[in-house]
Amino acid sequence: MREILHVQGGQCGNQIGSKFWEVVCDEHGIDPTGRYVGSSDLQLERVNVYYNEASCGRFVPRAVLMDLEPGTMDSVRTGPYGQIFRPDNFVFGQSGAGNNWAKGHYTEGAELIDSVLDVVRKEAENCDCLQGFQVCHSLGGGTGSGMGTLLISKIREEYPDRMMLTFSVFPSPKVSDTVVEPYNATLSVHQLVENADECMVLDNEALYDICFRTLKLTTPSLLAHFAPYSVTVGDLNHLISATMSGVTCCLRFPGQLNSDLRKLAVNLIPFPRLHFFMVGFAPLTSRGSQQYRALTVPELTQQMWDSKNMMCAADPRHGRYLTASAMFRGKMSTKEVDEQMINVQNKNSSYFVEWIPNNVKSSVCDIPPRGLAMASTFIGNSTSIQEMFRRVSEQFTAMFRRKAFLHWYTGEGMDEMEFTEAESNMNDLVSEYQQYQDATADEEGEYDDEEEEEGQYAEQM
Ligand code: GDP
Repeated sequence: MREILHVQGGQCGNQIGSKFWEVVCDEHGIDPTGRYVGSSDLQLERVNVYYNEASCGRFVPRAVLMDLEPGTMDSVRTGPYGQIFRPDNFVFGQSGAGNNWAKGHYTEGAELIDSVLDVVRKEAENCDCLQGFQVCHSLGGGTGSGMGTLLISKIREEYPDRMMLTFSVFPSPKVSDTVVEPYNATLSVHQLVENADECMVLDNEALYDICFRTLKLTTPSLLAHFAPYSVTVGDLNHLISATMSGVTCCLRFPGQLNSDLRKLAVNLIPFPRLHFFMVGFAPLTSRGSQQYRALTVPELTQQMWDSKNMMCAADPRHGRYLTASAMFRGKMSTKEVDEQMINVQNKNSSYFVEWIPNNVKSSVCDIPPRGLAMASTFIGNSTSIQEMFRRVSEQFTAMFRRKAFLHWYTGEGMDEMEFTEAESNMNDLVSEYQQYQDATADEEGEYDDEEEEEGQYAEQM
C-alpha cells in the first residue's frame, strides 16, 4: 500500500477538494455513507491510496480539511458527501484571513497550524507506507495561500522524504475577489518553488475562458451574448474536478505509467525548480451536460494538445515541451493511442526539446469518467508556462513599485524584503524557463556558467 494524504485549505481549496471527493467516490463506487456499492474489482484494487478502511467496512477519505473561518467547511459538511469525512479531521478557526497572505502564513494561520499538524500526524501514523501528500488551495486569498504554504513547509520539515503534490488555483482579474491577489500568489509561488515537488497549475484565467467558450457552444444563440456573465465558480470547479480526477487516475487505478507520485515526478521534472505543470482535458463539456459523446482517439488526441483545452492561460506554441504525459480513459486501442501520440510529436517536433528523447509518455485506463465514453488528460511541463508567471509578476510589480497595500502585510509583522525575494525568485523562474526554451542539443555545458549569473535562486538548480 502506498497511501496519499489529502489536505484542503481555505474557501477555494475546500470547494475544489470536496468536488474532487465527490467525483472520486463516484468513480470508485463509494456512496455518501462510505459504503461500497460499485460493480468492478478495479474500483477497489487501489482504493487504499486515497481511503482508509474503517473497521465496519466503510471507506473514509484520508482527508484533512482546514480553514480560518467556519463557513465553507459548514457547507462541505452539509453537502452531498459531507458525512463521509472523519469529523475529527475538520480543523477551523474563527478569525478569517481577510485575503491577507501574512495572516495565513504568520499570524492567524500560525496559531492554528499545530492543530492541523496533529491531525496530519495521526493520519500519517495510520499509513502502511505513505507516498506523500496532496494539497488543494488557491494562491490568491489568505488561508489556502498563506496557511497552505505554511503547512507545506511544516510537512516538508517533518516528512522530508515524502512527495508533495499541489493543486494550486492561480488568480485572475477576470474572476477576482481583491486587488492584492498578485501579492498573495507571488509570495506563495516563492514557497512552492522550494517546498513542493509537483504543482498542477489551475489558472482561473484559463478556466474562465474555457467556460466562456464552452457555454457559448451550448447556449442557444440568443442567450450566447449573455453567457459571459453567467460563468460561475461552480462552472470553474466542474472543470477542476474533471482535471483532478484525470490527473489522479493513474494513482488510483491499476496501471504502469505514473503509478505513484514519485514516478510522476521522475518522468516530468528534468530540473527540480521547474515542477509547475500545464494540465489539459478532453473532451470539454459544460456542467450538468450528460451527453454521452462518442469521440475518436484522433479527436481526443488533437483536443488534448490544443491550447484551448489547457487549464493554464499560456500557449504551448509559444514555448517548448520539456516533458509530457497523457492518460487516456475508456475502451480504446492502445496501439491507436500510441500511433496518434507519435503522430503529434512527429508533426510538431519543434515544440519538443530535442535534448530529452522520448519525452512524451502515454497510457490507457479502462475506466472512463462518468458521462463520457472516452476522455483524456494531459500533463505537460512546458516552458510556455512562463507566460502565466509573467502575467502575475507584472501585476505584482505594478503595485509593489509604489508599495501599494503593503501596510496590510507589514502590519502582520512581515518584512518588505520577503516581497523583494519572492519577486526575484519568480522572475528567476521565468528566466530559467526561457533558458531551457532556447537551449539546443549542441550547446551543452554552456548553461552552467549563465545560470550562476542569472540570480540568487537560479544557483539552486
Ligand atoms: P482563502 O479562503 O483565504 O484561502 O481565500 P479564497 O480561497 O477565497 O481565495 C481567493 C482566490 O481564490 C481568488 O482568486 C478567487 O477567484 C479564487 N476562488 C475562490 N473560490 C474558488 C472556487 O471555488 N473555485 C475557483 N476556481 N477559484 C476560487
